[in-house]
Amino acid sequence: MNNDVLIRIEHLSRHYGPIRAVENISFEVKRGEVLGFLGPNGAGKSTTMQILTGNLSPSAGRVIINGYDILDQPRLAKAELGYLPETPPIYRELTVYEYLLYCARLNKIPKNQLRNAINSAMERCGLTETRKRLIGNLSKGYQQRVGIAQAIIHSPAVVILDEPTVGLDPIQIREIRSLIRELSNNHSVILSTHILPEVQSTCNRVQIINKGKLVLNESIDDLNQQMQSDNLLIAFRHPPGIQALESIGGVVRVNKVDNERFELHIEPANDPTDKIVKMSADQNWHLYELSPQRRSLEEIFMAITSSEHQHVDVEPQALSVAAGESN
Ligand code: ATP
Repeated sequence: MNNDVLIRIEHLSRHYGPIRAVENISFEVKRGEVLGFLGPNGAGKSTTMQILTGNLSPSAGRVIINGYDILDQPRLAKAELGYLPETPPIYRELTVYEYLLYCARLNKIPKNQLRNAINSAMERCGLTETRKRLIGNLSKGYQQRVGIAQAIIHSPAVVILDEPTVGLDPIQIREIRSLIRELSNNHSVILSTHILPEVQSTCNRVQIINKGKLVLNESIDDLNQQMQSDNLLIAFRHPPGIQALESIGGVVRVNKVDNERFELHIEPANDPTDKIVKMSADQNWHLYELSPQRRSLEEIFMAITSSEHQHVDVEPQALSVAAGESN
């Protein structure tokens, strides 16, 4: 993986009157990375996305897309961006080819490169067979592919996808996720989603925003490490007594889950797994399940976002000033 930084966000803030929707966030995305952007409702995701795509100006801070500042060089910066909003901007009455031709022209692709650009986007998104079909007659999954094709038609450095799998069936979801992973070979991808398993299966970095602030920015590998816990779940057909389990070296505490199942809190440095397996065989406990327990991304997400449910910081004295104020 080449380590070019394709997106650089520096000290970005956006205030709506007294509401600090985004507060001093900084991060980078490198070529080849798929960044999962998570947060509860009202956390500041859409505001950040709108600023990244040049649709909203920040109150402070900078956005650099492949070396171009989105405020100082908006045309050059936007040429490096592909965006699939939550509702794909497709025209149902056009064929796939007609629509992509329209998008390619909007993106100012030179005439002699139009055909190649469209064919390549269709091929990468698995749309070649549907080129002559009306978009309105395609399934939702295929319409989503068309939305992704328009986002990559000009080969942007950065692709931003807002909840790209919402409303799709499980097969379509798998296909779109694999397409997103494939996109990361040539682009940086930012994926906004509420679906936590999607982040684990598709992204290599995860970022959580809460009340306008970045509260987590980790690689999926590091996060997987954090998810390991010090608990084992074991089950026996002929279970021993709790004391027998507690006496095994490395077992700190035993909780009985039901007649056959136990949760063991263990010392990670003195993992008792091998001893348990051997003792079970020696003493006919009939071990039939042994699984290390893991914290889920959902648990981590809940732990760092649910401490206070008021999503954004508000300066109380300024509330009246903002009444009726929007952008
Ligand atoms: P969701 O997941 O619900 O879309 P989000 O994380 O995208 O939420 P934002 O839409 O960025 O959150 O909103 C962040 C905060 O800014 C919220 O408190 C929201 O009410 C507020 N906000 C967003 N847009 C405006 C606006 N135009 N005027 C005033 N406040 C706004």
